Amino acid sequence: MTERELLIKGLEQICPKVYPQTVDNFLKFSDMLLEKNKVMNLTAVTEPMKVISRHFLDCAMIMPDVISEEKVIDIGTGAGFPGLPLAILCSDTQFVLLDALRKRIDFLNEVIAQLGLKNVTAIHARAEEFAEKNRQSFSVAVSRAVADLSVLSELTLPLVKVNGKFIAMKAQDCKDEVEQAKRAIEILGGDKPCIKKYTVVESDMVRAKVEIHKIKDTPAKYPRRFAKISASPLGGK
Ligand code: SAM
Repeated sequence: MTERELLIKGLEQICPKVYPQTVDNFLKFSDMLLEKNKVMNLTAVTEPMKVISRHFLDCAMIMPDVISEEKVIDIGTGAGFPGLPLAILCSDTQFVLLDALRKRIDFLNEVIAQLGLKNVTAIHARAEEFAEKNRQSFSVAVSRAVADLSVLSELTLPLVKVNGKFIAMKAQDCKDEVEQAKRAIEILGGDKPCIKKYTVVESDMVRAKVEIHKIKDTPAKYPRRFAKISASPLGGK
């Protein structure tokens, strides 16, 4: 099977329609990612087929959560995951890709320009700083592989509107981490987190998405400035 075939087979199980332009955009992104990865640390995945399954199809699995949303932010997007695959798939939704490392944002801007995407902006900032001027302005926040859920919730929930949601993409065995973050999530304005496991299409990878609905305002003191990523200031670990 070729990368194109794997991608089409996978996307057909997730999206109502798979356009040739969408597939071309993904393959161009993959080429640019693997090329830049030779000189810059962007991903541990170096095989083209694995880029399709571990990055593109994994991220595409949360497309139903964002497709009808207005404004989505991806916190700690790194090389663009999950936000860029979602932006390629959901052209009517506006995306902000946020990362604290300028080189990664520079790379993403090259990809966005090359693909001609009009619905996505890459911003270099720490989430704590970005929250100062963009509080509660996104209908959805997404994030994958950035921090422990209680720290991550402090970085993301302040940016989400009341009645919006936060989707954290986690490993399937995230139950304890979620349990330990419950108190922090409640303080930050979220409701009870809900873990939904899924198998990535065309693979045997089982992953989890943790869904947190925002039900009230986040107190103004969160996120604390320059919260250390390793610490869990609101309890938990
Ligand atoms: N989400 C991507 C993925 O799944 O491949 C990248 C994960 S990478 C392990 C974590 C990323 O989070 C890094 O690019 C790092 O710069 C970014 N990051 C960590 N703390 C951050 C913060 N406070 N604000 C913005 N970005 C942050």
